[in-house]
Amino acid sequence: MEVPKYRRILLKISGEALAGESGSGLDFGFIGKVCQAIRHCTQQGVQVAIVVGGGNFWRGARAAGTQMERSRADQMGMLATVINCLALAECLQQCGVEARVQTAVEMQEIAELYIRNKAVSHLEKGRVVVLGCGTGSPYFTTDTGAVLRGVELNVDAVLLAKNVDGVYDSDPKKNPNAKRFDQITYDDILKNHLSVVDFTATSLAMDNRLPLVLFALEDPENIYRVVMGEDLGTIVKEAF
Ligand code: UDP
Repeated sequence: MEVPKYRRILLKISGEALAGESGSGLDFGFIGKVCQAIRHCTQQGVQVAIVVGGGNFWRGARAAGTQMERSRADQMGMLATVINCLALAECLQQCGVEARVQTAVEMQEIAELYIRNKAVSHLEKGRVVVLGCGTGSPYFTTDTGAVLRGVELNVDAVLLAKNVDGVYDSDPKKNPNAKRFDQITYDDILKNHLSVVDFTATSLAMDNRLPLVLFALEDPENIYRVVMGEDLGTIVKEAF
């Protein structure tokens, strides 16, 4: 019998990934496939917490400095993540996966407040916990929120499902000869300014020795493959 490589994971799904090919809004056909892959993980007994991005609706840093003050622009971004959390939780329920939404900012009519022990209790009962608002503070990203929650929830790894299939030595969209790493250290990401994971997220993972796995969500079943130990994308660790 196959045994999962990870027992408890924090899955980060970027907002753009939920938009499918259109790049904005929500593609429910695609989200359904993501939820099926998550179901395959929970069927193996894997505990799954998810942090969702909001870039398919709004990114604070992009709007800031033009018409908006950064903190308020970031608050809008955090609200965008909640829209995605609700969509994802709804689709999970429809796939037969029990899910709870917890947000770092209180909105009691819509979701539970993020409380670490309560999140752990949901996970232990086999429920997927979908976490909104990132860290709950402006000037952060949901990648950092994912690492923070991953550390708090004692996960085995943070799985970063992105629109790119790993960490490259330069931007593969601009450089056709860009080289993809199968594995890389936190230090090398920071030293070489490889921006696919932001510095705050990388250094928080480094301080807590939490492995990151970066891979493409293009085929949502990749989530299951990574959980089962297939070598996909790039693994980021302290040393190899
Ligand atoms: N955001 C924030 N604090 C956080 C996480 C997110 O203020 O801890 C805001 C920020 O404006 C960000 C937006 O929410 O641009 C959406 O998050 P992110 O850009 O990380 O989403 P993704 O690119 O993963 O879709």
